[in-house]
Amino acid sequence: MTASSGHLPVAARADVRRAVVRLVRADGRAFVTVLALNALAAGAGLAGPWLVGRIIDEVRAGHGVGAVDRLALWILLCSLAQLVLARWARYVGHRFGERTLARVREEFVDRALALPAAVVERAGTGDLTARGTADVATVGTTLRDVGPELLINTVQALFLLGAVFWLNPLLGGCGLLGLVGIWGALRWYLRRARDGYLAEGAATSDVAEILAATASGARTVEALRLERRRVAASRDALETSRRTRLYTLFLRTVFFPAVEVSYLVPVSTVLLVGGVLHGRGTLSLGAVVTAALYLQRLSGPLDEILMRVEQLQNSSASFARVEGLARAPRAQQTDAPTPADDRFDVAGVRYAYDRGGEVLHGVDLTVRPGERLAVVGPSGAGKTTLSRLLAGVDAPTEGTVTVGGVPVVGLGPEQLRRQVVLVTQEHHVFLGSVRHNLLIAEPGATDEELWAALTAVGADDWVRELPDGLDTPLGDGGCRTDGSQAQQLALARVVLADPHTLILDEATALLDPATARHTERALAAVLEGRTVIAIAHRLHTAHDADRVAVMEDGRLTELGTHEELVAAEGAYAALWHTWHGEPS
Ligand code: ADP
Repeated sequence: MTASSGHLPVAARADVRRAVVRLVRADGRAFVTVLALNALAAGAGLAGPWLVGRIIDEVRAGHGVGAVDRLALWILLCSLAQLVLARWARYVGHRFGERTLARVREEFVDRALALPAAVVERAGTGDLTARGTADVATVGTTLRDVGPELLINTVQALFLLGAVFWLNPLLGGCGLLGLVGIWGALRWYLRRARDGYLAEGAATSDVAEILAATASGARTVEALRLERRRVAASRDALETSRRTRLYTLFLRTVFFPAVEVSYLVPVSTVLLVGGVLHGRGTLSLGAVVTAALYLQRLSGPLDEILMRVEQLQNSSASFARVEGLARAPRAQQTDAPTPADDRFDVAGVRYAYDRGGEVLHGVDLTVRPGERLAVVGPSGAGKTTLSRLLAGVDAPTEGTVTVGGVPVVGLGPEQLRRQVVLVTQEHHVFLGSVRHNLLIAEPGATDEELWAALTAVGADDWVRELPDGLDTPLGDGGCRTDGSQAQQLALARVVLADPHTLILDEATALLDPATARHTERALAAVLEGRTVIAIAHRLHTAHDADRVAVMEDGRLTELGTHEELVAAEGAYAALWHTWHGEPS
């Protein structure tokens, strides 16, 4: 599903449900506390109407003012208790929401980092960014506000209904019957609202689009005498927009009054039936009043629930996208065997990008530990593609790329960077201190090791002069680094990762002429003692290499030392002579 469409996967409904359960479980005690506090608050809220009923019965029984005063005092105390409990419940609920949101965010980052680079490249970083920002924010709103509020109001509504049943099951039944109207109205509305509002949104976009196109193409419209047609098109679009708006207005004019009326139905039925029961002497007047008050109070939580349900639907779509990352393929973690030695073997490798045909047509190559291999060839020959396969960024379509007998793509990031690092121009300075920027490559490095790496690339001087040394913040808002400093930090990271093999793409690596002199020396220090596979664009790199591989059209056509290849008088010799300006 991922590989074919290129998009990152979206979680199915069942997965979303399971993820919600998992999140609640992860903070289970807090969730139970939230529920308990809400229940207590709702319980305290029930006391008021019940006490009012008691007062009525006391007065009817002809008891004194003292009893009524006492009950009134209880009403006050219960209201206070409800206020305090409800606030507490809300506070705990929101904290639960924040913690859960933090967990969602952390999971998202972990999963995003575990994505193989090729998957991200295929899906486009836009999709990942949208999920990490807009979708996570929507989920955040739900966890912070919608979720806790829904919980509070659902508990309240259930308690109120339950209380009426407890007073008298018949009255409870009446109350429930009244709610059927709301349920019906809600289903009627929700079934139509989505399409209605989508059509309204689309029609609004159409109007804007037609007006903008007419305005920006005004000269063309005039030149081709399209005024009439444009006006007609605008009129049509406006008419459509008007119709869609009238439709959603119609939906609202049915739904909201229906809900309002539905709120009255349970109260009035309970008063009617309660009146009859009271007349027969089976129910006290106080109980009837209490039931009516409960049902009347029901409208508050129900209103909130109705409002929030739609938001919940929206955010469940977002959550499905956030959770979808869990179903994306992961870069392998630790189960890969350890490479036996430092030898790279490329055997029968073919490779085709998702779009387009095969670009490597069977490449065989062995890179000996410690050697310097230059790969040369015309642009488009497949050199960069080969370097991506060697660095484990992508898996070959056919054949194998192994290091010490182990497939490179199967290695987890931790293991991979001990083996091979691809050095390119992308010397990103991350937001954080100098130390953070270096520890990315080797989280366990000591300060001495960090300084040694900085010294190796000649960066120790300027880092020492920073106001807080290793702790100086870099990046936006922090200390600005120039191009060569950024390159030095990138190279220091390579020193810390300490891979036995480096792949150097000269087309993009460290060729900023302004900083070349600085970094050339640093680079030399980094290359020292490692296997180097250089995608060479300057022939003197090839000249200095132990061996040269010539790539043409997705195949390795020549392989040998500079002298051998010049003597062979093949493609490399021709290139060499042209470069030297000698006749070939
Ligand atoms: P070189 O590094 O030798 O210039 P490349 O490895 O970049 O060659 O490209 C080899 C072939 O693969 C070229 O024909 C190029 O158009 C194609 N290619 C490179 N990158 C992609 C890509 N992301 N998607 C599709 N085709 C690609």
